[in-house]
Amino acid sequence: DYAVEIRDLAFRHRDGTVALRGVTLKIKKGSKTAILGPNGAGKSTLLLHLNGIYLPQQGTVKILGVEVNRKNEKRVRKMVGLVSQDPDDQVFSPTVWDDVAFGPANFGLSQDEIKNRVDEALKAVRMEEFAQRMPFHLSYGQRKRVAIAGVLAVKPEILVLDEPHAFLDPASKADLSGILERENREGRTVIVATHDVDFAYEWADEVVVIKDGAVQAQGGPEVLSREE
Ligand code: ADP
Ligand code: ADP
Repeated sequence: DYAVEIRDLAFRHRDGTVALRGVTLKIKKGSKTAILGPNGAGKSTLLLHLNGIYLPQQGTVKILGVEVNRKNEKRVRKMVGLVSQDPDDQVFSPTVWDDVAFGPANFGLSQDEIKNRVDEALKAVRMEEFAQRMPFHLSYGQRKRVAIAGVLAVKPEILVLDEPHAFLDPASKADLSGILERENREGRTVIVATHDVDFAYEWADEVVVIKDGAVQAQGGPEVLSREE
């Protein structure tokens, strides 16, 4: 069973930059998968295809068997929670609480359920004290934690995080490790893009190495030692 099946995906940005050139890969349901590669390899562009922010220009992306296209966009966004690299892409509400509530509210949950989920998610990232603050006045690392909480609150089947460790202090990094473990234990597929080989080696059970917009290697963490 696959959480993600990508076949021959190619993508060119509006300015002509080719970011993906024929990516084919499968990610197992319930896995902890690291997408590893240097800056500019195409990781972010790939991840933005997983929840339909980008639609394939060539090739196909399937999420839990559902093809990512305009018609299935809403379904796909509910299945896949994406924490983008830059929290300012997704943190924009007047208060932290509203920001984390945005996803659950968008998917039509009851007020009680929204409140439970927001409180739980803010607690997980240790931002409950900041619930009534303006995201704009928080530090970058705090905004990143709010962005993570916003995705946790949706409880998607697949969690996708783009460089989640960047700019987090050691305590928040430790919190994040705990969160990723718990989410996976609860049955979610967790996909993390990173350039941190040590993290990928320690954390992942599946690794995909991306370079110049193509898959260079895929397998267990042992593929990494051969890549170095
Ligand atoms: P990574 O996440 O691995 O650092 P990206 O997917 O961000 O890689 O980038 C892949 C390539 O696409 C790079 O050459 C990058 O400069 C380019 N790129 C990324 N986003 C855009 C964009 N919005 N417009 C134009 N080029 C982009
Ligand atoms: P541009 O307009 O910069 O050429 P695109 O046409 O590819 O780029 O538009 C995609 C836009 O979506 C980019 O500006 C990118 O920064 C933005 N984006 C990135 N991450 C997210 C996200 N998680 N949610 C919504 N938009 C995002």
